[in-house]
Parts: sequence; C-alpha cells; structure tokens
Amino acid sequence: MEKEKEKKTIFDIPVAQRIYFENSNLNLFRKLFFLSPVILFLISLFGLMITNELKVFSFKNRANLLIEKNDGSILGHLPYEEISENKLVDIEPHIKVHIDMSESLLKMREDAEKDNVYLVFLSGYRSQKLQKDIFYSLKSMRNQIAADRARVSAPPGYSEHSTGFAIDFGDATKRETDFEVEFENTDAFRWLIKNAAKYHFRLSFTKNSKYVDYEPWHWRYEGSIEALKIFEPSNRRIRNYKN
Ligand SMILES: [Zn+2]
Repeated sequence: MEKEKEKKTIFDIPVAQRIYFENSNLNLFRKLFFLSPVILFLISLFGLMITNELKVFSFKNRANLLIEKNDGSILGHLPYEEISENKLVDIEPHIKVHIDMSESLLKMREDAEKDNVYLVFLSGYRSQKLQKDIFYSLKSMRNQIAADRARVSAPPGYSEHSTGFAIDFGDATKRETDFEVEFENTDAFRWLIKNAAKYHFRLSFTKNSKYVDYEPWHWRYEGSIEALKIFEPSNRRIRNYKN
C-alpha cells in the first residue's frame, strides 16, 4: 500500500523537448560563436603582421638614411680612389681604361659595328688632377656654384672616371650629341640599352638618379670583382631607391 502511495506522489516530469529553430541567422550566430576564438586569433595575427611590417619598413628607412649619411658622398657623388697607372691600358690615343674592362669594351664596339652602330669613346680614365681642372674650370666658365656644377660633373676624387671603369660614349654619326642628353635619341644609345649588359656595362646615372643629372653617355663596367667592390656603395644606393 505504501509503495503504491509513493508511486502516486511521483511527479510527472515532462520530457525535455528539443526545439529546432529554422532560423538561418541563429545558425550563423552559433557558427560565429564557435568560430570566434579562431577569428580573434586571425585578427590578432594580422595585426601583429602589420605592426611588424611597419617596424621593418621604418627600420629599413632609418638604415638607408644612415647608409646615405655615412657613405662619404659630397654633393651626391660617392668617393672613388684613383686607379694605379699599371692597371691602365691605352685603347686609343688619349683614351685609357682599366685593363680588366678593355677587352669587353673593344668587343662591344666591334659587335655594335656588325649591327651598323658606330660607338665613339669620348672619355675613359681621368686623373683626379684632370677632374679637378674640369670641375673648377667649367664651374667658373658657367658661373655656377659647386652644388649646381656637381649635378653635371663630379668633384675631383668623386668621379667614376678615376677608377678606370667608366667610359663616355658618343655616336660616330651624331657627334653633335656628344655629352648631351640628346645622345639618348641615337642608334648608339638604343644599341647600348639593348646590349651593354651582355658586356657587363651599366648606365651610371639614369633618369631616376636622385643626386646626379641623367647622363645617357656615361657607362661603367661591372664585370669584375674589383669593379663590383668599387661600385657597391653606388649599387646599394640604387637598391635603396627601390625600397
Ligand atoms: Zn662620364
């Protein structure tokens, strides 16, 4: 009897009902809720990456500025030591160049001729004394201050010509363009742009040069370790422009 009584006092608990909402927004919220740690993680990762990028970027800029400050340049020109006499060869009367580049240079002129392009060598090695005469005589002739003159001619001790690895070209059929920006419209210049790299020559002062005016006639040789070492500060500058 007592057991039956007990049975009667048992409360009837309704079975829990699972209700499925056909609500797509709710599903989306639920998904977002479960994914939120992942999303948070991704956002913070992205934030970290941007901060690091900025840090690297500003560090690079500061490093570049330091390099530029300490590269020993004057009026935008880098210093170059004078090459010793025994490393120079005459490739023409009055034109001396570094022995390491002479062969490549002569071969280049020879190959250009095969394409009916006639390169003229205007200036190769220049002693610091000659560079001094050029810099100061032209400066006074043109009534220019040093900073203006430096855009078109290097101060003595700061010319690529004193290394023996620089050469100024003209076009034999357009001599009126010698040392002029118009040289860029000659066949000689077009040929050089297309072919000079094969002979390890590169244009020193391009239109993008930050410090020195564009000189389409002035090329330098980078086909030896010695030359590459000499021009490393300059090439570092060029690389930095791209950053
Ligand atoms: Zn030159």
